[in-house]
Amino acid sequence: MNTQKYDYDFFVIGGGSGGIRAARWSAGLGAKVALCESHRLGGTCVIRGCIPKKLMAYGAEFSDYFKQARSYGWELEEPHLNWKLFNQSRNNEIKRLEGIYANLLKNSGVDFFSGKGSLKDSHSVEVNGKAHTSRFILIAVGGWPSRLNIEGADLALTSNELFSLPEKPASLLVIGAGYIGVEFASIFQGLGTQVQLLFRKDFILRGFDQDIRKNLQEELEKKSISILSGRSPVKLEKKQNQIHVTDDKGKAWTAEAVLMASGRSAHTQGLNLESLGIKTTNEGTIQVNEHLETSCPGVFALGDCASTPYQLTPVATAEGMALSEFLFSEKSKKISYENIPTAVFTHPPVGTVGLTEEQALKQNHELEIFETRFRPLKLTLTKEQEKTYMKLIVNKHTRKVLGCHIVGEGASEILQGFAVALKAGLTKEHFDQTIGIHPTSAEELVTLRTPRKN
Ligand code: FAD
Repeated sequence: MNTQKYDYDFFVIGGGSGGIRAARWSAGLGAKVALCESHRLGGTCVIRGCIPKKLMAYGAEFSDYFKQARSYGWELEEPHLNWKLFNQSRNNEIKRLEGIYANLLKNSGVDFFSGKGSLKDSHSVEVNGKAHTSRFILIAVGGWPSRLNIEGADLALTSNELFSLPEKPASLLVIGAGYIGVEFASIFQGLGTQVQLLFRKDFILRGFDQDIRKNLQEELEKKSISILSGRSPVKLEKKQNQIHVTDDKGKAWTAEAVLMASGRSAHTQGLNLESLGIKTTNEGTIQVNEHLETSCPGVFALGDCASTPYQLTPVATAEGMALSEFLFSEKSKKISYENIPTAVFTHPPVGTVGLTEEQALKQNHELEIFETRFRPLKLTLTKEQEKTYMKLIVNKHTRKVLGCHIVGEGASEILQGFAVALKAGLTKEHFDQTIGIHPTSAEELVTLRTPRKN
């Protein structure tokens, strides 16, 4: 396909979820493709995000399993976590995945350059001092954790450093209760660290359904995570081996380590966006149109660094495929951002898809809300107080299920199938006609009969 005028048809800057998928998919459609990566192939998801975090979440779950096992008759010695071994196993797996990505690129015929890419003009990218020309360029540089602009902010860790801690901290104070903050709070609690969670709002997980926020917060409190809501940090200081965090109410909180999970920003430094006139949003992401094209024709952006609405791996990969089809095939399709399911890997986890009750009301839907809260069967023997909460949001007139939200064991796995149902536009009656799988928690979602009284 290459017209010979350029070295490549498609040059991708950034070897993360979106960049790798776009590069491979385009090569599969016959384009001559190159990709450069400044750090490690796999990007945030594989190296310092979804995968190592989920492996840590699995590791943390064992503390509950050990406790529960005794109620099921297992006699166990007091278990002990070998932190070094845990980190080593996880890091080995990450290395293996990184190698797989390198092979996938090679086998797809994508030329790989290890180094930081920057734009020279709208048709050339410079890597390690050498310019490569290309018909189209994709910026897929992802995001990076940002610290609050407060005194002593550098004393805090970000999510990046959590994967290389030489020792497990005895205590951890997490600043910020978005999904990354609550996930790590929950992971470290499970691993045996004393955890405090400090955040500005009344409830964790701003933007999620209010009932999910309340129910999960309650569950985290039951697990002895200290919830410090309605507070903003103003200063961090190191005193002996502890970090003191002073909040806006003048109260100081102490922990051995502090995680700042207060936000992420697009990783666009050094790309030379300004000289190409590439516009960015107030949040610093690259402004793109519905075809992911920036304000500079022929230069595209996707994933966490772009102004698209979600910062999730499957969204970045879907954008990568949609862009490749748009550029190199006849069947151009736009990506739909409706009903994107997502999970929060806390203990218990959250699974959610579709509108929250607050969003549905804002869109003037007249609603019927179906909900249930119960102790899962598995925990009846262990006598734990953990509750599962499930909620369906239904348009009273069209009967369409607009939202499905779960906090409870298995939520992240249960939800994927219900995401298909919402994508298909199914009604409450379709849910009612579906026979449950017994005995499971998921069957509750097809046996909810009485709407909540408002
Ligand atoms: P990235 O994956 O960040 O890839 C960008 C790549 O570009 C990086 O490898 C970077 O090194 C490289 N790069 C940057 N600048 C340059 C340059 N100038 N030249 C060359 N290379 C460059 N999402 C989920 O769906 N589920 C989860 O459970 C989940 N958990 C997460 C947990 C954490 C702690 C974090 C931080 C994120 C998590 N995410 C999760 C989000 C997910 O990781 C991102 O949405 C996804 O990785 C975005 O993909 P991307 O291709 O846009 O960017």
